[in-house]
Amino acid sequence: MSHRHVALLVEDDPVMAAEIADILTSIGHDLVHADSLEGGRALLAQGGLCYALLDLQIKHRPNSLKPDVIMGETLYREVRGQYPRRNAADAHLFQALIMSGFDKEHDAVVRMLRAGADAFIRKPLCENQIRIDVQIREALERSGRQRHARCAEISRAAGAAPPLPPAAAGLAPASRLGPRGDALPLHAEGQRRLVVLDRWSGGKCWVDVDGVPAGLSPKSFIMVARLAEARVFGKGIGWLYKTLLDKYADVGWKGMTRLYEQLRRAGVPPESLIENDRRGSFRARHEAAQIVIDLAALQQHEHEEVRRAFGSALKAA
Ligand SMILES: [Zn+2]
Repeated sequence: MSHRHVALLVEDDPVMAAEIADILTSIGHDLVHADSLEGGRALLAQGGLCYALLDLQIKHRPNSLKPDVIMGETLYREVRGQYPRRNAADAHLFQALIMSGFDKEHDAVVRMLRAGADAFIRKPLCENQIRIDVQIREALERSGRQRHARCAEISRAAGAAPPLPPAAAGLAPASRLGPRGDALPLHAEGQRRLVVLDRWSGGKCWVDVDGVPAGLSPKSFIMVARLAEARVFGKGIGWLYKTLLDKYADVGWKGMTRLYEQLRRAGVPPESLIENDRRGSFRARHEAAQIVIDLAALQQHEHEEVRRAFGSALKAA
């Protein structure tokens, strides 16, 4: 058995495949390569993999006429279906990084990030702010695979069937994506991590930004949770018009000002987390590399106002 990490690389452009293979070998990884959905499937079935790098635009079979993002999405979902489980830090135990020329496949990339893809690698590779080898190393760290010795064991754990969340029945399809809500990792533009916690203590609701807890009033917390929810589960890419935020904060523009003050007090520059289109809409920023929100837990939140805000949203969805 190899004592090096083994990547599944699915890429139909031979030049790009060679470029990536070069990088993988230079960091001491082995790889198996396929150029189609069918080929990727066969390698996935063989097992022995530590992580996957999946191009979106691939062919069905090697001799198919044209590549299509549908094939890439299908393969990603099959990878995720085979390795669905996450660790205690909410990271997939088997990381699947998707690759795309983003701009023309923007919708598909967003769909797959929503479906839990662990990182996004932009093509051409020189356009990534975070180098591909760094993204791979981080993905391996997230899944606890700093060393290959534990990979077989971790892959076994990754493959076990996840317990179905009790609240899954009757939720909107988007809310069924993951047992703990879902993560939206977008590494291309930054590194922030926002975790919406279901904790109520010291008279505050809590979020976690890059490992630093920030206590918010229930109203402000609901606004942050709404923005996170819109980013992870929403249609479009997370913009919420102020009235939607205000409806739940019921304090109009003051609500946003207060939220910004509370974030600042907690040491989080609000502009680093929230984007304002200057036309009345807000969203959680791209720079929030990963957003974790568990809607089912918010439904059970200790604070009644939070419970109500998210309980009614789920029913309406
Ligand atoms: Zn490994």
